[in-house]
Amino acid sequence: MTQVSERIAGLAASETLVMSQKSNELKAQGFDVINLSVGEPDFNTPDYIKEAAKKAIDDNFSFYTPVPGYLSLRQAISKKLERENGLSYKPEQIACSNGAKQSVCNVVLSVVDPGDEVIIPAPCWVSYIEMVKLAEGKVVIVETGIEQDFKMTPSQLEIAITPKTKAIILCSPSNPTGSVYTKAELKTLADILSKHPRIVVIADEIYEHINYIGKHESIAQFENVKDQVVVINGVSKAYAMTGWRLGWMAAPQWIVSACNKLQGQYTSGASSIAQKAAEAAYYGDQQCVEDMRLAFMRRRDLIVKLASEIEGLKVNKPEGAFYLFPECSYYLGKSYNGKTMKTSADLAMFLLEKGHVACVGGLAFAAPNYIRFSYATSDENIIEAMKRVKETLAKLR
Ligand code: PMP
Ligand code: GLU
Repeated sequence: MTQVSERIAGLAASETLVMSQKSNELKAQGFDVINLSVGEPDFNTPDYIKEAAKKAIDDNFSFYTPVPGYLSLRQAISKKLERENGLSYKPEQIACSNGAKQSVCNVVLSVVDPGDEVIIPAPCWVSYIEMVKLAEGKVVIVETGIEQDFKMTPSQLEIAITPKTKAIILCSPSNPTGSVYTKAELKTLADILSKHPRIVVIADEIYEHINYIGKHESIAQFENVKDQVVVINGVSKAYAMTGWRLGWMAAPQWIVSACNKLQGQYTSGASSIAQKAAEAAYYGDQQCVEDMRLAFMRRRDLIVKLASEIEGLKVNKPEGAFYLFPECSYYLGKSYNGKTMKTSADLAMFLLEKGHVACVGGLAFAAPNYIRFSYATSDENIIEAMKRVKETLAKLR
């Protein structure tokens, strides 16, 4: 007899984590698998951040932390927002959590009532849809394709807005597409959203520093919409700190207060050690961030070149993050040894089992004709993985 709640029974497992787990299982059985599924920097956390964490342990930062995070960390984030983004947020308007993932979920649970509509431009990150489902909200997908560089147009946004729209989740630079909205594009979206002050704009900027076209632009810079915007960010991607679990939001006070109330009953303040490490990350020399960005950009160029040489894949040139999101419908319906590729998830499984390359099918990102490769790995791995993908896909008839 199954006893899980309907809420959890109806929830999809995170496909990125599932594929990564499968890849690790095959590796444990001795197979030489290249994991391009889960998206996380392959670099180690910079030394100055690790030193700060060691010091925090020695200095006995071992007690419960304030729910929104240490004031000193929120001050560091406030200064970072001023320095890097030209945004003015008081420390009280900042709330830390166990990762940007939790911060997004905190906002969704804090503002969405059952039946409220949440606009999500797709392709979108795996967890957004499931978070809205948890809040019993209604997901309104706005489909975008590779031909429009996966960016929602102003008219698409206008059509999607209804009197029931409560929130929109924007992600730039985007996971899974790598697309980056320009300042002008964001301004047009801001102008539309500002006409609907009840809509909360959740701006997921976790890939802020992995941008190949220039300076990061936040939708919060536009005064007409700032009071509606929640900026989501964290240290996972910029400082190669995925396992430390430290994210944050900067938002209007009423949203921060609601999220703190929720978090106070749910997970409490984030890890003391991770917070001291994050504080050091923001105050320290930022050269490590630039070095990683340059490495990711070189790898982007490499994977775009190699994937473009694979028959049937339609590839664009991502402008940020560390994902390639080719269109792969050419292979859907084709078979190997009696097994037909009905979906891109079948294709991802075929690439894992036959080619020993782990990636993620597009359905998990609400884009069934696509497939996602994370290129946050070495040049050698990228070269070998694309060789295997090419050879494996060529087996399909
Ligand atoms: N948003 C996006 C778009 C992401 O790709 C990720 C990484 N999984 C997150 C949020 C969550 O990041 P964190 O590790 O800070 O929870
Ligand atoms: N950002 C990563 C990804 O999308 C992390 C995995 C996750 O949290 O879902 O692969």
